[in-house]
Amino acid sequence: SKPHNKLHIYFLPMMSPGHMIPMVDMARIFAGRGVKATLILTPLNAILVSKTIERDRDLGLEIIIRLINFPSAEVGLPEDIENHSSITSPEMSKKMYKAKELLQQPVEKLLEEDFPDCLVADMMFPWASDVATKRGIPRLVFHGTSACALHVNHILNQQKPYKNIESDSEVFVLPDLPNKITMTRRQLPDYMRDGTENHLTKLMEKITESVVTSYGVVINSFRELEPAYSELYSKLIGRKVWHVGPVSLCNRDNEDKSCKGSKISLSGHECLTWLDSKKPNSVLYVCFGSLSYFSNVQLLEIAMGLENSGQEFIWVVRKEKKTKEEEGWDEWLPEGFEKRLDGKGFIIRGWAPQVLILDHAAIGGFMTHCGWNSMLEGVTAGVPLITWPLFAEQFYNEKLVTDILRIGVGVGSQEWCRWPDESKIFVKRKDIEKAVVQLMVGEEAEENRSRARALGEMAKKAVQKGGSSYNYLSALLEELKLNSN
Ligand code: UDP
Repeated sequence: SKPHNKLHIYFLPMMSPGHMIPMVDMARIFAGRGVKATLILTPLNAILVSKTIERDRDLGLEIIIRLINFPSAEVGLPEDIENHSSITSPEMSKKMYKAKELLQQPVEKLLEEDFPDCLVADMMFPWASDVATKRGIPRLVFHGTSACALHVNHILNQQKPYKNIESDSEVFVLPDLPNKITMTRRQLPDYMRDGTENHLTKLMEKITESVVTSYGVVINSFRELEPAYSELYSKLIGRKVWHVGPVSLCNRDNEDKSCKGSKISLSGHECLTWLDSKKPNSVLYVCFGSLSYFSNVQLLEIAMGLENSGQEFIWVVRKEKKTKEEEGWDEWLPEGFEKRLDGKGFIIRGWAPQVLILDHAAIGGFMTHCGWNSMLEGVTAGVPLITWPLFAEQFYNEKLVTDILRIGVGVGSQEWCRWPDESKIFVKRKDIEKAVVQLMVGEEAEENRSRARALGEMAKKAVQKGGSSYNYLSALLEELKLNSN
């Protein structure tokens, strides 16, 4: 038996930055509310967060890290793959799914040794619901995305409105939504487009089932951002949904905000000093998350679009395993590009301190791939967005920004772009230029900015004492306490 005075919750994040960062922050928030939090991490990811966790412990928070090894070798992947940063093909991606299945046993073992009251596990581990049931504890599903995207995805899976469409580029309206949202088949996940059964359709089925058999869902979002979708999604799955975000707001200072997920590159550090010399709302921040790579031809279009817009910018560029020192890193850059910019543009090669950059007064816009964390971090900072969805649920998140919240403009991204493809330009320089100018200058820009600012204020209120996310968490903890007695 165990003492019942303090709730003990296990957190199992998926290992990519976009899932790990918010779940680590979530565990820290729970710990701040009197929970004993145990984080299950892989060694490489643990290194990236251990300093933050130690600082929390100094403040009296009870956070424990338990390590499990990532079975890279077992599935034929390189050792350092565990944070997903260099997955560049569908084959590698398939192996990663296999590796995640193999984590069930070590996690089960950890839970047997300990007596937690609850398991919060990423949606990508559908087996976690069974594991929790075996231990007689509730499993909460953590989704790395919005209630809007979850609901839309569910509708697509259930009603398959894309089935009777003539061509991949034909626009169709999504059924049964509170807003009119349109899509084309090219903007849907491959597994839906194919229409055949494959490992992904099977995984999606398992995930849906594990959500329905779970205790409920916790998401990194705040209710005021998407009230209608929150309710609809909850009804659809027949489970409660607790909005406890934006979790990035739990970071207290620069040290907390700067580095979880990867080591900040040298240029990443320098960019903050550069920003200090800029006027308020004058700089566009351009970053496409932690997983995507662009081909050289597409990078060139971005470079030219940004330059032609005449706006100042910070642009984070990721290249496959290449650092600046490696030969060929800059081959896509137009001759003399940086010199020509003459202080108007700043390129970060590698990892950027994103939350710190977005919070800087000089930032006036954010070009994003609509990964949920990036989007929410932008909203939280009160910054309007240029949407350039690439894959996964990013196309649904785009609709939330442009059609529902109306805090940004789309760059005109029409189809999935998951892997670098040298034979194709997905978005042309003139469209990039147009979107940048539209977001940064003029009356419409001001309107977008003021709506974004208002949302940023709402986000901050949500996590304060008495705010919606704060209250959701109180209610959840109450329920879990009743359950554990
Ligand atoms: N991020 C960062 N620096 C970078 C790139 C990404 O700090 O150079 C962080 C970003 O702040 C966010 C996460 O990594 O918290 C990316 O998650 P998101 O859901 O936006 O996209 P994903 O990487 O999963 O596609």
